Amino acid sequence: RLKNCLREEDTFCRHSGDEFTLMTYCSADGLDASAVATKILEAIRFPFVVDESELFMTASIGIALFPKDSSDDLGLMQKAENAMHQSKKNGRDCYCYFSREFSQQAEETLHLTTLLHKALERQELQLYYQPQVDLENRRIVAAEALLRWHNDELGWVSPEQMIPIAEESGLILPIGQWVLEQTAKQIRSHYEIKREWLPIAVNISVKQFIKDDFVTCVMAIIERHDIPAACLELELTESLMLSDVDLAINKMGELHALGVSLALDDFGTGYTSLAYLKRFPVDKVKLDRAFVTDIHHSKSDAALAKSLVAFTREMEFELIAEGIEEEIQGEYLKAMGFRYGQGYLYSRPLPEEEFAKLFSTDVLTA
Ligand code: C2E
Ligand code: MG
Ligand code: MG
Repeated sequence: RLKNCLREEDTFCRHSGDEFTLMTYCSADGLDASAVATKILEAIRFPFVVDESELFMTASIGIALFPKDSSDDLGLMQKAENAMHQSKKNGRDCYCYFSREFSQQAEETLHLTTLLHKALERQELQLYYQPQVDLENRRIVAAEALLRWHNDELGWVSPEQMIPIAEESGLILPIGQWVLEQTAKQIRSHYEIKREWLPIAVNISVKQFIKDDFVTCVMAIIERHDIPAACLELELTESLMLSDVDLAINKMGELHALGVSLALDDFGTGYTSLAYLKRFPVDKVKLDRAFVTDIHHSKSDAALAKSLVAFTREMEFELIAEGIEEEIQGEYLKAMGFRYGQGYLYSRPLPEEEFAKLFSTDVLTA
Protein backbone atom coordinates (compact mmCIF):
# COMPACT_ATOMS: atom_id res chain seq x y z
CA ARG A 1 0.00 0.00 0.00
CA LEU A 2 2.73 2.43 0.97
CA LYS A 3 4.72 1.79 -2.18
CA ASN A 4 1.71 2.80 -4.23
CA CYS A 5 1.69 6.19 -2.51
CA LEU A 6 5.39 7.00 -2.82
CA ARG A 7 7.40 8.52 -5.64
CA GLU A 8 10.97 7.69 -6.61
CA GLU A 9 12.35 10.68 -4.67
CA ASP A 10 10.48 10.02 -1.38
CA THR A 11 12.03 8.37 1.67
CA PHE A 12 9.44 7.10 4.10
CA CYS A 13 10.24 5.48 7.47
CA ARG A 14 8.36 3.97 10.33
CA HIS A 15 9.99 4.73 13.70
CA SER A 16 7.64 2.90 16.04
CA GLY A 17 3.93 2.61 16.77
CA ASP A 18 2.12 5.16 14.61
CA GLU A 19 5.23 7.30 14.12
CA PHE A 20 6.28 7.89 10.52
CA THR A 21 8.56 10.35 8.76
CA LEU A 22 8.62 11.48 5.16
CA MET A 23 11.75 13.05 3.69
CA THR A 24 11.59 14.42 0.21
CA TYR A 25 12.58 17.25 -2.15
CA CYS A 26 11.30 20.78 -2.02
CA SER A 27 8.82 21.52 -4.76
CA ALA A 28 8.04 25.14 -5.51
CA ASP A 29 4.98 25.18 -3.22
CA GLY A 30 5.68 22.11 -1.06
CA LEU A 31 2.31 20.72 -2.10
CA ASP A 32 3.64 17.47 -3.55
CA ALA A 33 4.68 16.25 -0.14
CA SER A 34 1.20 17.04 1.24
CA ALA A 35 -0.38 15.02 -1.54
CA VAL A 36 1.89 12.07 -0.74
CA ALA A 37 1.19 12.32 3.01
CA THR A 38 -2.57 12.52 2.42
CA LYS A 39 -2.45 9.42 0.24
CA ILE A 40 -0.49 7.55 2.91
CA LEU A 41 -2.92 8.53 5.66
CA GLU A 42 -5.83 7.26 3.57
CA ALA A 43 -4.05 4.03 2.63
CA ILE A 44 -3.24 3.24 6.26
CA ARG A 45 -6.67 4.18 7.58
CA PHE A 46 -8.28 1.48 5.43
CA PRO A 47 -8.58 -1.63 7.69
CA PHE A 48 -6.06 -4.48 7.42
CA VAL A 49 -7.47 -8.01 7.48
CA VAL A 50 -5.36 -10.38 9.56
CA ASP A 51 -6.64 -13.89 10.38
CA GLU A 52 -10.16 -12.80 9.46
CA SER A 53 -10.06 -9.87 11.92
CA GLU A 54 -10.06 -6.27 10.82
CA LEU A 55 -7.23 -4.19 12.28
CA PHE A 56 -7.35 -0.43 12.25
CA MET A 57 -4.39 1.91 12.42
CA THR A 58 -3.52 5.54 11.81
CA ALA A 59 -0.28 7.40 11.21
CA SER A 60 1.35 10.53 12.63
CA ILE A 61 3.60 11.77 9.84
CA GLY A 62 6.40 14.33 10.08
CA ILE A 63 7.66 15.85 6.83
CA ALA A 64 11.10 17.40 6.23
CA LEU A 65 12.13 18.90 2.90
CA PHE A 66 15.54 18.85 1.23
CA PRO A 67 17.31 21.27 1.08
CA LYS A 68 14.97 23.78 2.77
CA ASP A 69 14.95 22.15 6.22
CA SER A 70 18.39 20.57 6.04
CA SER A 71 20.91 19.67 3.37
CA ASP A 72 22.35 16.61 5.10
CA ASP A 73 20.74 13.28 5.84
CA LEU A 74 21.06 13.29 9.62
CA GLY A 75 19.70 16.85 9.89
CA LEU A 76 16.80 15.96 7.62
CA MET A 77 15.93 12.94 9.72
CA GLN A 78 15.98 15.00 12.91
CA LYS A 79 13.74 17.66 11.41
CA ALA A 80 11.25 15.06 10.16
CA GLU A 81 11.14 13.45 13.59
CA ASN A 82 10.58 16.81 15.19
CA ALA A 83 7.65 17.43 12.81
CA MET A 84 6.27 13.98 13.65
CA HIS A 85 6.08 15.00 17.34
CA GLN A 86 4.09 18.03 16.27
CA SER A 87 1.62 15.72 14.44
CA LYS A 88 1.18 13.72 17.60
CA LYS A 89 0.59 16.91 19.55
CA ASN A 90 -2.01 17.93 16.97
CA GLY A 91 -4.03 14.81 17.74
CA ARG A 92 -2.41 12.09 15.52
CA ASP A 93 -3.80 10.71 12.26
CA CYS A 94 -2.36 13.73 10.43
CA TYR A 95 0.85 15.10 8.94
CA CYS A 96 2.93 18.16 9.80
CA TYR A 97 5.79 19.94 8.10
CA PHE A 98 8.88 20.77 10.09
CA SER A 99 8.47 24.19 11.68
CA ARG A 100 11.31 26.18 13.17
CA GLU A 101 8.85 27.81 15.55
CA PHE A 102 7.67 24.52 17.00
CA SER A 103 11.22 23.24 17.14
CA GLN A 104 12.32 26.38 19.00
CA GLN A 105 9.40 26.03 21.42
CA ALA A 106 10.29 22.41 22.07
CA GLU A 107 13.92 23.39 22.70
CA GLU A 108 12.88 26.15 25.09
CA THR A 109 10.66 23.74 27.02
CA LEU A 110 13.51 21.27 27.23
CA HIS A 111 15.85 23.99 28.50
CA LEU A 112 13.33 25.15 31.13
CA THR A 113 12.84 21.53 32.22
CA THR A 114 16.59 21.08 32.68
CA LEU A 115 16.82 24.25 34.78
CA LEU A 116 13.71 23.38 36.78
CA HIS A 117 15.30 20.01 37.62
CA LYS A 118 18.08 21.87 39.39
CA ALA A 119 15.86 24.57 40.91
CA LEU A 120 14.97 22.60 44.04
CA GLU A 121 18.50 21.67 45.04
CA ARG A 122 19.79 25.13 44.16
CA GLN A 123 17.10 26.63 46.37
CA GLU A 124 15.70 28.80 43.61
CA LEU A 125 12.09 28.13 44.56
CA GLN A 126 10.25 30.25 47.11
CA LEU A 127 6.77 30.50 48.44
CA TYR A 128 4.95 33.81 48.56
CA TYR A 129 1.87 34.20 50.72
CA GLN A 130 -1.26 36.15 49.86
CA PRO A 131 -3.69 37.04 52.65
CA GLN A 132 -7.35 36.10 52.56
CA VAL A 133 -9.42 38.62 54.48
CA ASP A 134 -12.76 39.03 56.17
CA LEU A 135 -14.48 41.61 53.93
CA GLU A 136 -16.19 43.18 56.93
CA ASN A 137 -13.05 44.28 58.81
CA ARG A 138 -10.11 43.25 56.61
CA ARG A 139 -8.69 40.93 59.22
CA ILE A 140 -6.41 38.25 57.83
CA VAL A 141 -8.23 34.94 58.25
CA ALA A 142 -5.99 32.72 56.10
CA ALA A 143 -3.39 32.84 53.33
CA GLU A 144 -2.60 31.10 50.06
CA ALA A 145 0.91 29.83 49.31
CA LEU A 146 2.00 30.66 45.76
CA LEU A 147 5.09 29.27 44.10
CA ARG A 148 7.81 31.60 42.82
CA TRP A 149 10.90 30.63 40.81
CA HIS A 150 13.88 32.89 40.31
CA ASN A 151 16.71 31.68 38.12
CA ASP A 152 19.89 33.67 37.39
CA GLU A 153 19.60 33.11 33.65
CA LEU A 154 15.81 33.29 33.22
CA GLY A 155 14.90 35.83 35.90
CA TRP A 156 11.43 35.32 37.42
CA VAL A 157 9.45 32.53 35.81
CA SER A 158 5.69 32.75 36.35
CA PRO A 159 3.70 29.78 37.70
CA GLU A 160 1.68 29.82 34.46
CA GLN A 161 4.89 29.01 32.60
CA MET A 162 6.46 26.75 35.18
CA ILE A 163 3.55 24.57 36.42
CA PRO A 164 2.70 22.98 33.03
CA ILE A 165 6.40 22.12 32.55
CA ALA A 166 6.61 20.72 36.06
CA GLU A 167 3.49 18.65 35.36
CA GLU A 168 4.65 17.32 32.02
CA SER A 169 8.09 16.36 33.33
CA GLY A 170 6.81 14.80 36.56
CA LEU A 171 8.77 17.40 38.56
CA ILE A 172 5.48 18.56 40.07
CA LEU A 173 5.73 15.63 42.50
CA PRO A 174 8.94 16.66 44.32
CA ILE A 175 8.04 20.34 43.93
CA GLY A 176 4.51 19.80 45.27
CA GLN A 177 5.92 17.86 48.19
CA TRP A 178 8.33 20.72 48.92
CA VAL A 179 5.46 23.25 48.78
CA LEU A 180 3.42 21.22 51.30
CA GLU A 181 6.45 20.79 53.56
CA GLN A 182 7.34 24.53 53.48
CA THR A 183 3.74 25.54 54.10
CA ALA A 184 3.42 23.28 57.13
CA LYS A 185 6.67 24.73 58.46
CA GLN A 186 5.29 28.23 57.94
CA ILE A 187 2.02 27.42 59.72
CA ARG A 188 4.04 26.24 62.73
CA SER A 189 6.34 29.26 62.63
CA HIS A 190 3.38 31.72 62.60
CA TYR A 191 2.02 29.93 65.63
CA GLU A 192 5.34 30.17 67.47
CA ILE A 193 5.38 33.94 66.91
CA LYS A 194 1.77 34.82 67.58
CA ARG A 195 0.27 31.85 69.45
CA GLU A 196 -2.48 31.84 66.86
CA TRP A 197 -3.05 29.26 64.14
CA LEU A 198 -3.38 30.73 60.66
CA PRO A 199 -4.68 28.36 57.97
CA ILE A 200 -2.64 28.35 54.75
CA ALA A 201 -3.90 26.98 51.44
CA VAL A 202 -1.74 25.05 49.00
CA ASN A 203 -2.50 24.48 45.31
CA ILE A 204 -2.52 20.80 44.46
CA SER A 205 -1.96 19.51 40.95
CA VAL A 206 -3.98 16.58 39.58
CA LYS A 207 -0.78 14.54 39.21
CA GLN A 208 -0.07 14.92 42.93
CA PHE A 209 -3.63 14.19 43.96
CA ILE A 210 -3.97 10.94 42.02
CA LYS A 211 -0.77 9.41 43.44
CA ASP A 212 -1.58 6.41 45.63
CA ASP A 213 0.37 7.75 48.59
CA PHE A 214 -0.95 11.33 48.50
CA VAL A 215 -3.12 11.02 51.62
CA THR A 216 -0.32 9.29 53.56
CA CYS A 217 2.13 12.03 52.54
CA VAL A 218 -0.23 14.77 53.72
CA MET A 219 -0.75 12.97 57.02
CA ALA A 220 3.01 12.55 57.53
CA ILE A 221 3.60 16.27 56.92
CA ILE A 222 0.93 17.27 59.42
CA GLU A 223 2.46 14.97 62.04
CA ARG A 224 6.04 15.97 61.31
CA HIS A 225 5.32 19.67 61.84
CA ASP A 226 2.79 19.05 64.57
CA ILE A 227 0.12 21.37 63.17
CA PRO A 228 -3.69 21.13 63.34
CA ALA A 229 -4.87 19.38 60.16
CA ALA A 230 -7.58 22.00 59.66
CA CYS A 231 -4.87 24.65 59.14
CA LEU A 232 -3.66 22.96 56.00
CA GLU A 233 -6.07 23.73 53.21
CA LEU A 234 -5.78 21.99 49.86
CA GLU A 235 -6.93 23.88 46.77
CA LEU A 236 -8.20 21.54 44.09
CA THR A 237 -9.41 22.36 40.61
CA GLU A 238 -12.38 21.10 38.66
CA SER A 239 -10.21 19.18 36.19
CA LEU A 240 -9.31 16.89 39.05
CA MET A 241 -12.94 16.17 39.75
CA LEU A 242 -13.71 15.49 36.13
CA SER A 243 -10.91 12.98 35.52
CA ASP A 244 -12.09 10.11 37.73
CA VAL A 245 -15.11 11.11 39.77
CA ASP A 246 -15.22 8.11 42.12
CA LEU A 247 -11.52 8.25 42.85
CA ALA A 248 -11.75 11.99 43.51
CA ILE A 249 -14.72 11.61 45.88
CA ASN A 250 -13.05 8.76 47.80
CA LYS A 251 -9.77 10.57 48.18
CA MET A 252 -11.45 13.79 49.24
CA GLY A 253 -13.30 11.75 51.86
CA GLU A 254 -10.01 10.32 53.16
CA LEU A 255 -8.47 13.80 53.35
CA HIS A 256 -11.54 15.04 55.18
CA ALA A 257 -11.20 12.20 57.66
CA LEU A 258 -7.72 13.53 58.44
CA GLY A 259 -9.30 16.88 59.22
CA VAL A 260 -7.70 18.69 56.27
CA SER A 261 -9.85 21.37 54.68
CA LEU A 262 -10.60 21.30 50.95
CA ALA A 263 -11.26 24.25 48.66
CA LEU A 264 -12.43 24.27 45.05
CA ASP A 265 -10.24 26.79 43.19
CA ASP A 266 -11.14 28.89 40.11
CA PHE A 267 -14.85 28.14 40.34
CA GLY A 268 -16.81 29.22 37.28
CA THR A 269 -14.06 28.72 34.71
CA GLY A 270 -14.62 25.01 34.09
CA TYR A 271 -17.61 22.83 33.47
CA THR A 272 -18.77 22.17 36.99
CA SER A 273 -22.38 23.09 37.64
CA LEU A 274 -23.67 23.78 41.13
CA ALA A 275 -25.62 20.50 41.03
CA TYR A 276 -22.42 18.62 40.25
CA LEU A 277 -20.61 20.35 43.08
CA LYS A 278 -23.02 18.81 45.59
CA ARG A 279 -21.38 15.43 45.13
CA PHE A 280 -17.96 16.61 46.27
CA PRO A 281 -17.06 17.01 49.93
CA VAL A 282 -15.46 20.47 49.75
CA ASP A 283 -15.41 23.03 52.56
CA LYS A 284 -14.82 26.13 50.53
CA VAL A 285 -15.46 27.46 47.03
CA LYS A 286 -13.27 30.16 45.46
CA LEU A 287 -15.03 32.27 42.84
CA ASP A 288 -12.56 32.89 40.01
CA ARG A 289 -11.17 36.35 39.24
CA ALA A 290 -12.80 36.21 35.78
CA PHE A 291 -16.19 36.78 37.46
CA VAL A 292 -14.95 39.32 39.97
CA THR A 293 -13.36 41.79 37.55
CA ASP A 294 -16.68 42.99 36.08
CA ILE A 295 -18.99 42.03 38.90
CA HIS A 296 -20.23 45.63 39.23
CA HIS A 297 -21.05 45.91 35.48
CA SER A 298 -21.92 42.46 34.25
CA LYS A 299 -25.40 41.10 34.94
CA SER A 300 -24.39 37.52 34.15
CA ASP A 301 -21.34 37.58 36.45
CA ALA A 302 -23.46 39.01 39.25
CA ALA A 303 -26.11 36.35 38.63
CA LEU A 304 -23.56 33.57 38.94
CA ALA A 305 -22.13 35.08 42.11
CA LYS A 306 -25.61 35.43 43.62
CA SER A 307 -26.60 31.84 42.90
CA LEU A 308 -23.26 30.73 44.33
CA VAL A 309 -23.98 32.62 47.56
CA ALA A 310 -27.39 30.95 47.91
CA PHE A 311 -25.99 27.54 47.09
CA THR A 312 -22.99 27.68 49.42
CA ARG A 313 -25.24 28.86 52.26
CA GLU A 314 -27.52 25.89 51.77
CA MET A 315 -24.58 23.50 51.55
CA GLU A 316 -22.68 25.16 54.40
CA PHE A 317 -19.61 25.73 52.21
CA GLU A 318 -17.44 28.75 52.85
CA LEU A 319 -17.20 31.18 49.97
CA ILE A 320 -14.35 33.43 48.92
CA ALA A 321 -13.85 35.72 45.92
CA GLU A 322 -10.44 35.85 44.20
CA GLY A 323 -8.74 38.71 42.38
CA ILE A 324 -10.39 41.69 44.08
CA GLU A 325 -8.48 44.73 42.84
CA GLU A 326 -10.88 47.59 43.38
CA GLU A 327 -12.80 48.88 46.35
CA ILE A 328 -16.08 48.73 44.44
CA GLN A 329 -15.67 45.01 43.68
CA GLY A 330 -15.14 44.24 47.37
CA GLU A 331 -18.18 46.31 48.35
CA TYR A 332 -20.35 44.63 45.73
CA LEU A 333 -19.32 41.15 46.80
CA LYS A 334 -19.86 41.96 50.46
CA ALA A 335 -23.35 43.28 49.71
CA MET A 336 -24.10 40.08 47.81
CA GLY A 337 -23.26 37.98 50.84
CA PHE A 338 -19.60 37.12 50.32
CA ARG A 339 -17.79 36.97 53.63
CA TYR A 340 -14.19 36.52 52.45
CA GLY A 341 -11.95 37.95 49.73
CA GLN A 342 -8.46 37.79 48.30
CA GLY A 343 -6.78 40.17 45.89
CA TYR A 344 -4.32 42.96 45.20
CA LEU A 345 -6.69 45.44 46.89
CA TYR A 346 -5.84 43.87 50.24
CA SER A 347 -2.35 42.65 49.48
CA ARG A 348 -0.22 41.15 46.74
CA PRO A 349 1.43 37.80 47.44
CA LEU A 350 4.38 38.55 49.74
CA PRO A 351 7.68 36.87 50.61
CA GLU A 352 7.78 34.95 53.88
CA GLU A 353 9.20 37.68 56.15
CA GLU A 354 6.97 40.44 54.77
CA PHE A 355 3.90 38.28 55.17
CA ALA A 356 4.85 37.39 58.75
CA LYS A 357 5.22 41.10 59.53
CA LEU A 358 1.80 41.84 58.02
CA PHE A 359 0.20 38.96 59.89
CA SER A 360 1.50 40.30 63.16
CA THR A 361 -0.39 43.57 62.53
CA ASP A 362 -3.50 41.56 61.71
CA VAL A 363 -5.61 44.10 59.85
CA LEU A 364 -4.99 45.41 56.35
CA THR A 365 -5.68 49.05 55.74
CA ALA A 366 -6.83 50.37 52.39
P1 C2E B 1 -4.55 30.41 41.70
O1 C2E B 1 -4.38 29.29 42.65
O2 C2E B 1 -5.93 30.72 41.25
O3 C2E B 1 -3.89 31.67 42.41
C1 C2E B 1 -4.32 32.98 42.27
C2 C2E B 1 -3.49 33.74 41.28
O4 C2E B 1 -4.04 35.04 41.10
C3 C2E B 1 -2.07 33.97 41.74
O5 C2E B 1 -1.26 33.99 40.58
C4 C2E B 1 -2.13 35.36 42.38
O6 C2E B 1 -0.89 36.02 42.41
C5 C2E B 1 -3.09 36.03 41.42
N1 C2E B 1 -3.82 37.14 42.03
C6 C2E B 1 -4.18 37.29 43.32
N2 C2E B 1 -4.87 38.44 43.51
C7 C2E B 1 -4.96 39.03 42.29
C8 C2E B 1 -5.55 40.26 41.82
O7 C2E B 1 -6.16 41.03 42.56
N3 C2E B 1 -5.44 40.52 40.49
C9 C2E B 1 -4.77 39.69 39.63
N4 C2E B 1 -4.67 40.04 38.36
N5 C2E B 1 -4.20 38.53 40.04
C10 C2E B 1 -4.30 38.20 41.36
P2 C2E B 1 0.11 33.23 40.48
O8 C2E B 1 0.84 33.30 41.77
O9 C2E B 1 0.78 33.73 39.25
O10 C2E B 1 -0.33 31.72 40.26
C11 C2E B 1 -1.03 31.33 39.13
C12 C2E B 1 -1.54 29.93 39.26
O11 C2E B 1 -0.46 28.99 39.31
C13 C2E B 1 -2.33 29.69 40.54
O12 C2E B 1 -3.65 30.15 40.38
C14 C2E B 1 -2.23 28.19 40.67
O13 C2E B 1 -3.17 27.55 39.85
C15 C2E B 1 -0.84 27.90 40.11
N6 C2E B 1 0.08 27.72 41.24
C16 C2E B 1 0.73 28.65 41.99
N7 C2E B 1 1.48 28.07 42.95
C17 C2E B 1 1.31 26.72 42.82
C18 C2E B 1 1.81 25.57 43.51
O14 C2E B 1 2.55 25.64 44.50
N8 C2E B 1 1.40 24.34 43.05
C19 C2E B 1 0.56 24.19 41.97
N9 C2E B 1 0.21 22.96 41.58
N10 C2E B 1 0.06 25.25 41.31
C20 C2E B 1 0.42 26.50 41.72
MG1 MG C 1 -5.25 28.72 44.25
MG1 MG D 1 -7.72 30.55 41.66
